[in-house]
Amino acid sequence: MLLTGQHLISDRILVSNKEIFRAVNPATGKLLTCEFAEGGSEEVEMAANLAERDFDLFRQTSGRKRCELLEAIANELLVLKDLIIERANLETGLPVPRLEGELGRTVNQLRMFSQLVVADDYKLMRIDQAIPDRQPLPKPDLRLTQIPLGPVAIFGASNFPLAFSVAGGDTASALAAGCPVIVKGHPAHPGTSELAGRAIQLAVQKIGLPDGIFSLIQGSGHDLGSALVRHPQIKAVTFTGSQAGGRVLFDLAAARPDPIPVFAEMGSVNPVFVLPQALKKNHQLLAEKYTEALTLGVGQFCTKPGLLFAVKGEELDDFVQVVEKHLHRIRPLPMLHLGIKQNFNHKLKKIKLLQGINCVGEHGSSADESCDVSPALLLLSAADFLHQPSACEEMFGPSSIVVECESQDQMLNMAKSLPGQLSATVHATGVEDIICRQLFSILEKKAGRLILNDFPTGVEVCSAMNHGGPYPATTDSRFTSVGSTAINRFLRPVCYQNFNNALLPQELRDEQELNKP
Ligand code: NAP
Repeated sequence: MLLTGQHLISDRILVSNKEIFRAVNPATGKLLTCEFAEGGSEEVEMAANLAERDFDLFRQTSGRKRCELLEAIANELLVLKDLIIERANLETGLPVPRLEGELGRTVNQLRMFSQLVVADDYKLMRIDQAIPDRQPLPKPDLRLTQIPLGPVAIFGASNFPLAFSVAGGDTASALAAGCPVIVKGHPAHPGTSELAGRAIQLAVQKIGLPDGIFSLIQGSGHDLGSALVRHPQIKAVTFTGSQAGGRVLFDLAAARPDPIPVFAEMGSVNPVFVLPQALKKNHQLLAEKYTEALTLGVGQFCTKPGLLFAVKGEELDDFVQVVEKHLHRIRPLPMLHLGIKQNFNHKLKKIKLLQGINCVGEHGSSADESCDVSPALLLLSAADFLHQPSACEEMFGPSSIVVECESQDQMLNMAKSLPGQLSATVHATGVEDIICRQLFSILEKKAGRLILNDFPTGVEVCSAMNHGGPYPATTDSRFTSVGSTAINRFLRPVCYQNFNNALLPQELRDEQELNKP
């Protein structure tokens, strides 16, 4: 299958006379094949109108039909697997085994939602039967279910070119809910986006659904994203990326005449608290695991532990030395694109100017056009941490700050000072239960996922997962972007009062009526 460089909006090939852009190989700095058309408001208008046209038909499909669609997308992705992985490797510099794992995860996410929507339980129905002779007033028959919101705009993430991109969890959960999807592909991996988009288009055709339920618009400028968020037919937005980008899109959506929800997953420093007994017992192993977590995927995970708090002393010195030793063995690796590398260098430079900061791990990124960077470890005292809020900002890349505390009580104060997070971790032994409980009681108010004696980087895709958290980690802490409850972002409740069985949605009808032939 050859790349066309065109947007995927129905079967229309838009031979626009507008600008084009090309992907860059982050490992070599060289331009890759295929010119991609820059999308703008014309493409947004076309895709949004098609999505609105087909919304009514799509929202009324059975769960079984949507299950078939999601299964078909998973199958088409597997047919294109080799092409997708080859292109994603060129466009992102991520190693092939990582991309194979990510494609597996993408397929599993689609299958998880396909299974979820076969039964109606995900709509969380409630039935309150009428009590006509209730005094002083009769109670009406009230029945509650959930319906899809409408067309959803999805911003693909740069750091997960498959699992959080065109056919990723946002698309899977929106389609599962019955919402048409318009994806704005991330400009760093347009070829990967096109291949995944074509797998979705093929699946839509094969299942016999209307083509307006999925479009992919490519582009490398802010205007396209803004036009999408502002379009009156768009009813919700999902985003994974920078705090600046997420916040701009959130504000744009709030300023519409009809504000819509924006589910933006942005930055997080995912603090790790290591209690003294745990450090004493395990410092070698903890140092190894912490190094792995902060350098995994060249530190380009929203769950990377960016801050580690421990009480100062000999054990902490030993721990830091072991981390340093591990970091020195790690060769420079490319980040996803030049912009992310420059951002990382800029943030690191800013952090190195903090009062009292000590850079113990060697950092050196190449000055050339490649995106290579080396990891960095920094040390800061708790007192210096507390009066410099920028120490809490996400440094997207392979770096972390160890904060040296005077006491366990000071660790509690550190926890209290933190902004919202995706995750928060405590390492403790059984003898540290009291302080551990105190820490979690503070961290519960700060983070969407609490972790005991592990590291935050792996995010399991399952029904009990929460990948969200208070602002600035996300723009809506009540929802998750990973796991089966991610579907709730695209549903809204509707209550039916005094309806007879014939007029009620199927899932709210009385059972004996449902069972009638
Ligand atoms: P990004 O700059 O936030 O971009 C993500 C997507 O949003 C892109 O499609 C981008 O398109 C669009 N966008 C961003 N700002 C916009 C605006 N003001 N108006 C309209 N559209 C906008 O993220 P990135 O390129 O992936 O990486 C940049 C930084 O984001 C990283 O250095 C890192 O700090 C952070 N990041 C965080 C996470 C996380 O999970 N926490 C993940 C990835 C990246 P255009 O650029 O084409 O407009």
